[in-house]
Amino acid sequence: PLSVIFSSIEVLEKAGEKRTRFEKEILHGLKEEACQMNQLVSDLLLLARADNPYVQQISKESFDLAKLIEKVINKLTPLAKEKGIDLTWAGESVQVKGDQGKLEQVLTILIDNGFNYNQIGGWIRVELVVKRKEILLKVSDNGKGIPKEHQPKIFDRFYRAEVSRVQEPQGTGLGLSIAYELVRLHGGKIEVISEIGKGSTFTVTLPRG
Ligand code: ADP
Repeated sequence: PLSVIFSSIEVLEKAGEKRTRFEKEILHGLKEEACQMNQLVSDLLLLARADNPYVQQISKESFDLAKLIEKVINKLTPLAKEKGIDLTWAGESVQVKGDQGKLEQVLTILIDNGFNYNQIGGWIRVELVVKRKEILLKVSDNGKGIPKEHQPKIFDRFYRAEVSRVQEPQGTGLGLSIAYELVRLHGGKIEVISEIGKGSTFTVTLPRG
């Protein structure tokens, strides 16, 4: 149904030379809401599926994780510029076995949070550390940090650790729970170290080979 709503709005937009500015704004608003709803539904479906042992399989192809990181950094650099945040990465090539699309989603969620809980002039660094038996994918920022008492709960569904809800960017509280499930499906784990006012480091540990 959402795809139908979405394409209907696009039809209306295309056939709308004579529309007033007000009508165009309403159509634009509708499209944005439909888009967000679409994202929310796919997030909820992903979590529901992750709970079902019969649909837990993920594709496991071998690929270069460094190349995937580069792809995500290139994709998000325009947004980083817009937000005035310095986004960089460092690391060496390493083959992992997993689902590229899902690991891209994990990295996108972590970097996106790095944008959302930071301010202009801040930075996000992505680092790939290759160990003998495991691979560490670290995403660090110098943003607002997460209070100690909230840290064990931020991977829970719908949990948001904001001190003042009013000032926070809008979010669903689902991002980290999705990242958690996707990493778990890869046989890995995700952890956080964070200090209020200094920043946060999220570390994804993936098994090698
Ligand atoms: P959302 O960002 O939609 O609220 P998430 O599940 O991605 O949901 O994050 C849960 C909560 O963890 C956020 O609401 C925020 O309070 C906190 N958080 C996540 N990432 C960061 C970060 N990089 N810096 C500070 N706080 C963070």
